[in-house]
Amino acid sequence: MNLHLTRVSQDLMKKVFTAHDTILAGYFKSILEERGIACVLRNDYLGGGAGELPLNECWPEIWVVDPREEQLAKSIIAQNRTPAEGDAWLCPSCQESLEPQFTSCWQCGTTKPL
Ligand SMILES: [Zn+2]
Repeated sequence: MNLHLTRVSQDLMKKVFTAHDTILAGYFKSILEERGIACVLRNDYLGGGAGELPLNECWPEIWVVDPREEQLAKSIIAQNRTPAEGDAWLCPSCQESLEPQFTSCWQCGTTKPL
């Protein structure tokens, strides 16, 4: 491997998405690659041995190799995100604002509406 080239290309790469799990990251990576956008996953290998890193420091990230494709990649990802994966939601019972990874309200236990 050419270390110099590797370092340069990593400096140019743009992070376009941070996933909450490796399955989601792989899903978006395959979508981008279908559109001809070269991209890599970073951080997913840290999963088991993150040690004292905060949890969100080891979530898998998708980086595009060509920075000119950053906006295109972001728009493709945005088009393919479902509400379940993307946005915070509001509990219909108690109006608590909840992060997308929760499937039920931590305050009153109401299940996330579809
Ligand atoms: Zn609630």
